[in-house]
Amino acid sequence: ASAWAAVPAGPPDPILGISEAFKADKDPRKINLGVGAYRDEHGKPYILGSVKKAEELVNSTNPDKEYLPITGLPEFTRNAALLAYGEDSAPLKNGAVAVTQSISGTGALRIGGAFLARHYPHSKTIYLPVPSWGNHTPVFRDSGLEVRGYRYYDKNTIGLDFEGLKADLRAAPEHSIILLHACAHNPTGVDPTLEQWAEISDIVKERKLFPFFDMAYQGFASGSTSRDAAAVRHFVAEGHQIALAQSFAKNMGLYGERVGAFSITTKDAEEKARVDSQLKIVIRPMYSNPPLHGARIANTILSAPSLYAQWEGEVKGMADRIINLRDEVYNHLTHDLKTPGEWSHIKKQIGMFSFTGLKPEQTRALAEKAHIYMTTDGRISMAGLNSGNIGYFAESIDAAVR
Ligand code: PLP
Repeated sequence: ASAWAAVPAGPPDPILGISEAFKADKDPRKINLGVGAYRDEHGKPYILGSVKKAEELVNSTNPDKEYLPITGLPEFTRNAALLAYGEDSAPLKNGAVAVTQSISGTGALRIGGAFLARHYPHSKTIYLPVPSWGNHTPVFRDSGLEVRGYRYYDKNTIGLDFEGLKADLRAAPEHSIILLHACAHNPTGVDPTLEQWAEISDIVKERKLFPFFDMAYQGFASGSTSRDAAAVRHFVAEGHQIALAQSFAKNMGLYGERVGAFSITTKDAEEKARVDSQLKIVIRPMYSNPPLHGARIANTILSAPSLYAQWEGEVKGMADRIINLRDEVYNHLTHDLKTPGEWSHIKKQIGMFSFTGLKPEQTRALAEKAHIYMTTDGRISMAGLNSGNIGYFAESIDAAVR
């Protein structure tokens, strides 16, 4: 018999399954709001001008294809940490941030999970917001951590369950690890305010919790990379030691290039050197060293002032397009169509996604009858909308909820 005769078929990936159903649909009105990748106003993938220029600059130097060090391109990791922590960051100034390049945000989370499972001396439990990005649970479970949840989203208000969140963080055992979405929470689009972040920071301090930030959307939420880093910077300024996963998939549109960074703040340069040595020992048996090309592109943008300025403008352009789409969807539903229900959450939510509040049977009806595809939890990727399809989208939502 085959060695694999007893291997059970696993369930398909819920999001990639949507893309397949979308591809198979022949209706010209079809819209894919499943996948979390930015689309331009013509519904096409968008390569940033700053990325094109950086790639030309990289290629013009005829670079070699040698291996990178285990922790990646040193200039890139320095610049990535600077982007996240800001130039006034005390641990950064003190040479106390251990940072490694990673295989985008997913790889950063995985390195972090494995490092904490091996070296965090207290708890092996990580608390995730409910709901969270679908891959968080398998990433941390496969890293060797136990996964639990804390309340985050309130179905009734389609907003933050702040009281539930605070109660659950207070009830978590001391020294537990808690995962925080730095901005543009996926899948809900619901973020704490700055005042709420300050309260969360106080509870984390009181309860001696260990904060692990996932920052997959820096710049994408507000259009400003520093504003979107406010929560991370507040925690660091408050003296917390943090772990941080960064992705350049969304904010530079480098999805398939797999560019990211994982960092951890330490007491001083000597401790950082020891942590660095252990990060290498975690990474080496996983994949030896990270990919080269995307890190060169990202580093070129982060280190050349004119490209950096162009990139910031382009990030803001993407964020602003999404913010405008939120207003337009709201106006179509509330003012033009007088659709039953309250839709202001679509305007208030932040980042790439909106939790519409649509029920699973409504999302299925939208796919079958209107050829509009989204995850069954009612999450839509805003950038899939544009002037060519937004009217049809709003009419279809209206029909689905009446
Ligand atoms: N974290 C969150 C919350 C995400 O939404 C994503 C991507 O959708 C990621 C991490 C990781 O993405 P990537 O590995 O492409 O950087």
